[in-house]
Amino acid sequence: MTDSTTDDRSLHVIVVGAGAAGISAARSLQDAGCRVTILEARDRIGGRVQTAYDLAPHPVELGAEYIHGANVVTWDMVRQFNLTTVPDATKDDFHIYFDDRIHSGDDKLRIPSFHLVDTYEDIAIDWVEQGHPDASVHDVVVKWAELNNAVLSPGLQRLVNNLVSVREGGDWTRLGVRGMFEQNENTGGNFRIKEGYTALLEQAAADLDVTLNTPVRSISWSPEGVQIHSTAGRTFTADRAVITLPLGVLQAQDVRFTPSLPPGKEAAVNGLDAGHVDKIAMRFRERFWPQDMAGVLTTLSSQLWWRPGWGRDDEAPTLMAIIGGDAALHFESLGDGAVPEALDHLSAMFGEDARRHFETGRFISWGTDRWSKTGYSYELVNGAGLREQLSQPIDDVLFFAGEATHVTHPGTVHGAIESGTRAADEILDSH
Ligand SMILES: Cc1cc2nc3c(=O)[nH]c(=O)nc-3n(C[C@H](O)[C@H](O)[C@H](O)COP(=O)(O)OP(=O)(O)OC[C@H]3O[C@@H](n4cnc5c(N)ncnc54)[C@H](O)[C@@H]3O)c2cc1C
Repeated sequence: MTDSTTDDRSLHVIVVGAGAAGISAARSLQDAGCRVTILEARDRIGGRVQTAYDLAPHPVELGAEYIHGANVVTWDMVRQFNLTTVPDATKDDFHIYFDDRIHSGDDKLRIPSFHLVDTYEDIAIDWVEQGHPDASVHDVVVKWAELNNAVLSPGLQRLVNNLVSVREGGDWTRLGVRGMFEQNENTGGNFRIKEGYTALLEQAAADLDVTLNTPVRSISWSPEGVQIHSTAGRTFTADRAVITLPLGVLQAQDVRFTPSLPPGKEAAVNGLDAGHVDKIAMRFRERFWPQDMAGVLTTLSSQLWWRPGWGRDDEAPTLMAIIGGDAALHFESLGDGAVPEALDHLSAMFGEDARRHFETGRFISWGTDRWSKTGYSYELVNGAGLREQLSQPIDDVLFFAGEATHVTHPGTVHGAIESGTRAADEILDSH
């Protein structure tokens, strides 16, 4: 394949995976004059970005939901493609389900030690800055509570853990504070793309050479180049490859590397955790929740609910649960029982109207999805530094991108985009 910007002497790069990282790497490389082919297992691009256009009159995000932050790289693409955004609610608009009832406004503040929901990160940061050894977020918060005579009821612990699991992908008993400390803060709020996140990546990939329905089975490499074999028996050759396989797929060794990955790379793959984060989308005939409620953080295993249409004129009566860590494993074990259990939770919180108005529900299990096997990665205790290790190129032939390789913005679309640009720069520098 040649196009107007390339000739036969140009560097040929294969990118494995057409998610945010793969598209961004391919985009940068093609713009720099390289010949680029993307191989993608699914029948669509986007990976963990997937918008449903059939659940409501407005788009509903089954994977990534928000642009996190007002100044992240995603905004360049939003502007370039003339997309529009809607800001999400602030945390004050989120209600709390605690002790079998809904709390809102000042009522939330009467929950003993409620401030920990907002301050657990600061406590973790203080711990690291004071030079203590790495520990789980749970252990650090419990220690802080002991020292400060704060009441840590089981309900409050569930509340904080549920928020941590959704944000990070792992339970607070497993998440290391030093790994969390490596991440940059989200500043400026959260925004949804009105046209859907998929629209952003589709436009970014518009003139790229993407081969869909092509799962890669094995990758052989030497300093001279790469040979990539698909499960259907096709072989693709190139000078370099960018691997954007999700951490869960790398851990499962679904793709065989020959020679095998060096020990440092293996250690990074296996030392990080591929957190499970799933969603349950529910559509109703009528709204039964308070009009001023943007979402509800709960003590239940369905963890956090929000309104996918918040702030839109055409908002349909839909709710979305986002569930991480052990609670995600629980819902995955339910299979077809996941939606009914989620409906039970809504009935417990809002009464029988939830059941009466229920129309349809969809469980999106990223943790068991064959081509992701994770929602997003997180760092276990003593896992700091592993993302950097995961991102390192091998022999200037294999390059690595994807959310798990981003040190300061893992688990995000903008982190994945930046990782793709970084890998492209590394290739261009190596040439
Ligand atoms: C439920 C959920 C909610 C989220 N919410 C947000 C949010 O609000 N904001 C935010 O910024 N981020 C969010 N994220 C995270 C964000 O979606 C990811 O960080 C990002 O999309 C990852 O992009 P990636 O390119 O690294 O990986 P992926 O998107 O997973 O791309 C990897 C690609 O590799 C392909 N692949 C896998 N195996 C093979 C194979 N053998 N051969 C060929 N191709 C293969 C996959 O199909 C996939 O397309 C969320 C994620 C989840 C799961």
